[in-house]
Amino acid sequence: MASAPPGPQRPRPPFIPNPNTNTNPNPNPSSLPDSFQNLQIGRPPPPSAVPRGVAPPLPFSSAAPRPAAFPAGPGPAPSVAAAPPMGPPGLIRAPLPSAAPPQSHVVRPFPGSPPAGAPSSQPFAAPPPTAPQTFSVLPPQSSGPFTGNPALAGPPNSQPYMAPPSSQPFFGTPSSQPFRGPPSSQPFSRLPSSQPFMGPQPPFSGPPASTAPFGAPAWQPQPRPGAFPGSVPPPVRMPGIPLNAQNQMMPPPPPAMGYSPHAGTQMSTPLKIDPNQIPRPMPTSSVVVFETRQGNQANAANVPPPATSDFVVKDTGNCSPRLMRCTMNHIPCTGDLLSTSSMPLALMVQPFALPHPSEEPIQLVDFGETGPIRCSRCKAYINPFMRFIDQGRRFVCNLCGFSNETSRDYMCNLGPDGRRRDADDRPELCRGTVEFVATKEFMVREPMPAVYFFLIDVSMNAIQTGATAAACTAISQAISDLPEGPQTMVGIATFDSTIHFYNLKRASQQPLMLIVPDVQDVYTPLQTDLIVPLTECRQNLEQLLESIPNMFESNKVAESAFGAAIKAGFLAMKSTGGKLMVFQSGVSMEVPFFCEAHKLLQPADKTFKTMAIEFAECQVCVDIFLTTQTFVDIASISVVPSTTGGQVYYYYPFSALSDPAKLYNDLRWNISRPQGFEAVMRVRCSQGLQVQEYSGNFCKRVPTDIDLPGIDSDKTIMVTFKHDDKFQEGSECAFQCALLYTTVYGQRRIRVINLSLPCTNMLSNLFRSADLDTQFTSFLKQAANSIPITPLSQVREQITNLCINILHSYRKFCASVSSSGQLILPEALKLLPLYTLALIKSIGLRNDGRLDDRSYWVSHVASLSILLAVPLVYPRMISLHDFTSKEDDDISLLSATLPLSSEHLNDDGIYLLENGEDGLIYVGNMVSPDTLQHLFGVSSLDGVPNQLVLQQFDNDLSQKVNEVVNEIRRQRCSYLRLRLCRKGDPSGMFFLSYMVEDKTPGGLSYVEFLVHVHRQIQTKIA
Ligand SMILES: [Zn+2]
Repeated sequence: MASAPPGPQRPRPPFIPNPNTNTNPNPNPSSLPDSFQNLQIGRPPPPSAVPRGVAPPLPFSSAAPRPAAFPAGPGPAPSVAAAPPMGPPGLIRAPLPSAAPPQSHVVRPFPGSPPAGAPSSQPFAAPPPTAPQTFSVLPPQSSGPFTGNPALAGPPNSQPYMAPPSSQPFFGTPSSQPFRGPPSSQPFSRLPSSQPFMGPQPPFSGPPASTAPFGAPAWQPQPRPGAFPGSVPPPVRMPGIPLNAQNQMMPPPPPAMGYSPHAGTQMSTPLKIDPNQIPRPMPTSSVVVFETRQGNQANAANVPPPATSDFVVKDTGNCSPRLMRCTMNHIPCTGDLLSTSSMPLALMVQPFALPHPSEEPIQLVDFGETGPIRCSRCKAYINPFMRFIDQGRRFVCNLCGFSNETSRDYMCNLGPDGRRRDADDRPELCRGTVEFVATKEFMVREPMPAVYFFLIDVSMNAIQTGATAAACTAISQAISDLPEGPQTMVGIATFDSTIHFYNLKRASQQPLMLIVPDVQDVYTPLQTDLIVPLTECRQNLEQLLESIPNMFESNKVAESAFGAAIKAGFLAMKSTGGKLMVFQSGVSMEVPFFCEAHKLLQPADKTFKTMAIEFAECQVCVDIFLTTQTFVDIASISVVPSTTGGQVYYYYPFSALSDPAKLYNDLRWNISRPQGFEAVMRVRCSQGLQVQEYSGNFCKRVPTDIDLPGIDSDKTIMVTFKHDDKFQEGSECAFQCALLYTTVYGQRRIRVINLSLPCTNMLSNLFRSADLDTQFTSFLKQAANSIPITPLSQVREQITNLCINILHSYRKFCASVSSSGQLILPEALKLLPLYTLALIKSIGLRNDGRLDDRSYWVSHVASLSILLAVPLVYPRMISLHDFTSKEDDDISLLSATLPLSSEHLNDDGIYLLENGEDGLIYVGNMVSPDTLQHLFGVSSLDGVPNQLVLQQFDNDLSQKVNEVVNEIRRQRCSYLRLRLCRKGDPSGMFFLSYMVEDKTPGGLSYVEFLVHVHRQIQTKIA
């Protein structure tokens, strides 16, 4: 099947010229590989039935109903209530312990209960009658309004880009709609075909039918209890656990004996925490609308919904939190206050994050030859927070405080409210995010064509495992998703111990191979036509891909010259830049094997790093698809993608049965997702803060900017900040991310993303507006950065201490005196201990993992979005066996998550756990043969391989499970690698290692961890 060499050439649909000038990056949204057995549901017609260029209906056109901004109904309107009241202006000190604390999550111990850690025999029984209330939420602190607009003077930042002259007239009205929403059948936006960028077709889309995950009929916006810190107190009943799960009186797992790093403190404690009352994630299936700014005044702390929840953004001045969000939604006035809080101050920037389908597109503004208006001192771009004064003749920069002269052509009178009368008509004055057309000043050369160069390992092992065939098939199928037009160019080479280029223009039956034998001194054959426009070579390319597995069928060369191959590929595309996509199976010849365990997570030598920097300078972005069955030293080779804005894909152990589908989908999404090339990014912030560090997949050659040969919708960059001055209470701190890039259609653009947050002197405000998901993601990335250079035990300790220090600060300065015996968690961060525990038990921080698994985890986390960071560490688990008894739709089925505790696993049950990368299906040992037959097509799992190809059978259970798996794939933009895990088998033990709430030989249970955290806090206070 998929592992076999590509079959006869697929019939191509007739080419229908696109009536629109700009072609869609996904002209053929319906194509799915023929080998997909598990995407049968809702499968669109085969490619040949869908003419290219025919756009699907646009359900989210302007005529489509939009959810009301603030749904009526009981309870507060979400985004209004989201803004907690501010502290009184002028109050400088942190609140005293006697002050009413902000909302807290209090977990009180049961004095005199058995030692913590002993599993309760009735985990979900009601608390004993003598137990105190185990959970209380204190009222929010009231406070006054918040006004003011900073005029923060300060020295200019240096210039990132050439400043265009500002005296030129404004040409044309701001054009619009570059980034339009998708049809309802698409979970993520899909553009009208004239729009290149905003919403490509997701990889695993269903048909344009009623299956829309975000379709209009599904819009029933409801106020969401607990969605925002400060809105509604969470219920006492443990959220997220379906009632039937709560009623299951499962016997506790057998007590695990063994080493526990914290056993010394916790074993002697007489405390017990009711496991029924401890905080757990509360998934919701309803959608809220979030307005990024309340009114035009600079006065509101508008806390965005959790990154992992479902929401629709209305850009009313600040950017969508999908594009950029801060670890806290107030900025501490001083560095001291920030240190006191122990919280991180960082932004997660995901400049191409997929919008919700019903969100408005980012608007494109063309200032003509003059280019965008900028501050003449710090070069910040015009944005809604720049204040026009003096009848509009001047404007004050919100980043550096400089008073600029307004050019005559940009002049406009001010209204009675002090705003320009045209502010609402100009996207750059009313939207948090806009794109500017870049002028010549922003180009060092003409924008590059979209070049895709494929490098395929054909060494003996790659051929024999089916990896070469899988790569060829995937490329052959995915090239139909490459952007159309003369701008798109392709090239291909294969390699074992030598490198083979191919002339793609040659019209003959036999491809012309050009061999580069000397891998010590790589060169590119003196030959044009190695990289040619796709339109001129499509047929030759497809033929070549079809014959490669046969050409090397009996290859006995075991070595694989990975380093020389990427160098040769690079040389071929050096003059243009572009994407170099490497399909690698064997161990690179160049990786020197010296093995000191703790050093192995660092690159073995500097060769790859040096190479990668050269690649980045020439705008070559490298993605590596590792289809391997051996150790390949990911720590060494991942340096190349991580320096060039690319990424590593890892298929281990590669299975020719189950992995080709994932390989194809990964490749397809890679080339069809929203992305840009030859990008430069800079984040500016108000005087008072400065950028401390950027973290992610990029190359940094100057201190202020990062170079991104490639940047796409999945990549996130973390930016940390430190104070270099003070802010005044009531002022605002602005952040502006400017990303200069080239679209896949060769247009140069500047995407400008603005966020302005109020400053505070009150610690309680920091805690109230803390952003759990963002803070946790920052911990995760810190851990990943530390792993290669720090012993694992130390990283685990560091991460635990980060959590303890934050909770200690809250306990010491924000909680009331009367609560001394209680563990008090700030409402906004009540899940921090659970996520911290999950992190220290994760693949990256476990002692027992494979080196390559850990290195892959580190490289994966480096660019991971907030949306995927949380499930990577705290996966989603649902039961599958009872699907047929539920009437719910996919979304509701996915919302019924179970806590990650083996208490929730029944022997007669089947469970799915997914973390965005992998999907593990756990089958108990008492599952009825009927259920197995329905789901897997066999009445016994004996002999069934663990690497699962989920098939669809003609029954309700199978259909629902397939629908849910596909829904997850859409949500995650990731084709889950499915794996069967059986109780009583090593695979079952592997599954149980994700039960992070359990006590394990090397780690504490969740309850024990809370007790440990509590003890540590008490020790610090005493
Ligand atoms: Zn400025």
